[in-house]
Amino acid sequence: MSATVVIGAGVSGLGFANWWRERHPGAEVVVLEREAEAGGYCRTVVQDGFIWDYSGHFFHFKDPSLEAWLRARMPGQDIRTIEKLSFIRYAGKDIDFPFQKHIHQLPHAEFLECLVELYFRPTGDAPPASFGEMLYRRLGKGITDKFLRPYNEKLYAIDLDKLDVDAMGRFFPHADIADIIANMRPGAKATSYNATFTYPAGGAIQYIHALLRDLPPGTVACDEGVTAIDLRAREVVTPRRRIAFDRIVSSAPLPALAKLCGIPHDAGVFSSNKVLVFNLGFDRKGMRDVHWMYFPDRALSFYRVGWYDNIFASDRMSLYVEIGATSDATFDVAALRDRVLADLRRERIVTDQRLVSHHHVVLDPAYVHITRASLAETTRLRAALAAEGVHSVGRYGGWTYCSIEDNLLETRALAQTL
Ligand SMILES: Cc1cc2nc3c(=O)[nH]c(=O)nc-3n(C[C@H](O)[C@H](O)[C@H](O)COP(=O)(O)OP(=O)(O)OC[C@H]3O[C@@H](n4cnc5c(N)ncnc54)[C@H](O)[C@@H]3O)c2cc1C
Repeated sequence: MSATVVIGAGVSGLGFANWWRERHPGAEVVVLEREAEAGGYCRTVVQDGFIWDYSGHFFHFKDPSLEAWLRARMPGQDIRTIEKLSFIRYAGKDIDFPFQKHIHQLPHAEFLECLVELYFRPTGDAPPASFGEMLYRRLGKGITDKFLRPYNEKLYAIDLDKLDVDAMGRFFPHADIADIIANMRPGAKATSYNATFTYPAGGAIQYIHALLRDLPPGTVACDEGVTAIDLRAREVVTPRRRIAFDRIVSSAPLPALAKLCGIPHDAGVFSSNKVLVFNLGFDRKGMRDVHWMYFPDRALSFYRVGWYDNIFASDRMSLYVEIGATSDATFDVAALRDRVLADLRRERIVTDQRLVSHHHVVLDPAYVHITRASLAETTRLRAALAAEGVHSVGRYGGWTYCSIEDNLLETRALAQTL
C-alpha cells in the first residue's frame, strides 16, 4: 500500500497532515522528521525558569477560523494578546517603529535631512531594479541610509541591491509621503500589520502541540531524515526503511528536495542568510515597556533584541538577541556571547543585571534571499516536482518570506486541491 509521505514535522508538515486527514479520514500519512523532536523553527526551550523560542516568534492571525481551530486544540493554554511596543535604537534615541513613519522623532537636523531627501527622492520611468533601489525611489536617501539599508543588510547579510524589489512582500511597511506627513500630527498612531500580537504562555511550541493533538500515534517519525527519493520506483528512502508513496508533501528547503529527487536545478540561485540566536536570562528586571528593538548601527553585533519578560510580565530580564550572517560564516559562540553582552551594556540594556542562564541556536537557512533568479527557479522547480507528485511547501520549500499562518493557509489549500 502506498502512503502520503510528509517531509518535516514543522508547522507546514504537521498542518498538511491534519488537513489531509480531515478530508481523508483513515488515509495513511507518514510524517518523517530528521530532528529528535517535532516543531522545526517553531520550537521552545524551557531552562532555569525561562521560556525561550528558537527565535522571537509572535503571531498575527488574519484568518479568525484558523486561529480558532488552533485554540480549540490548546485547552487551558494562556494565550495573551499584547499591544506591540517596538522601537529602533538610533544614535542613543528610541524611535517608534517603523522608522519611515517616525522621522519626526529624530534629532531636528536629521529629521529635516530625511524629509528633504524624501521630497526630492529620485524618480525614474522604469520600475526599480532591486530592493535597494526601490527604497531610494520610494523613501529617499535619508530614510534608506539611516535605517533601512544598514538594518536590513545586517539581517540579510547581503547587499540590498541584489534582492528582488518585492523581497519582503507584505512584511515591508510601505509608506508614502502623505502617510509619513499625516503621522507627524500630534496624537497620530501609525497602523501596521502587527499592531497587536498573540503569544501562548508556554511558548511557540504550543502551536506544534495543537497540530500534533489529533494525529494518530505513530504518524510522526522523529530522528528519521529522508536521504533519497526514488521518483521512478516511487519510494522515499530513510536510514530505516523504504516507503512507497502516492504523493509527497515536503517542507525541506527546496534546493535540498531537488537534490534528494535528483532533479537538475541551478543551486547557485538559492542563497540565504543564517541567524545565530542567543537566549539570555538575567537575575533581575531590565527595561520595561518594550517588546523588541531594532539596531541599525553596524558597529553592534546584533540587529534585533526582544524582551520575553515584558510579554510574560515576569521579574527577571529574558532576552533573545539575533545576529545575521552569511551562510558560510562560522561562529565562535563563546566569544560572540561576550561581545553581545558588551554591546548590550553599551546600549544600557544590561546595567547591573547578572547573566544566570543562556542558550543559543543557529537557524540555517533563516531568511532566504529572494532575487529575480530565485523566483524564476523556484516556480520552475516546484512545477517540475509537482508533476512527479512531490509538492514543495512552507517557508523553505517555497523559498520565501512568510509567517506560520501563511504556512497553515498554504497547506490547508493544498490539501483541498490535491
Ligand atoms: C528569525 C525568524 C523569526 C521568525 N519569527 C516569526 C514570527 O514571529 N511569527 C511567525 O508567524 N513566523 C515567524 N517566523 C517564520 C516561521 O518560523 C516559519 O514560517 C515556520 O516555522 C516555517 O515552518 P515550516 O514547517 O515551513 O519549516 P521548518 O520549521 O523549517 O520545518 C521544516 C522541517 O523539515 C525538517 N527536514 C528538513 N529536511 C528534512 C529531511 N531530509 N528529512 C526529514 N525532515 C527534514 C526540518 O528538520 C524541520 O523540522 C520566523 C522565522 C525566522 C527564521
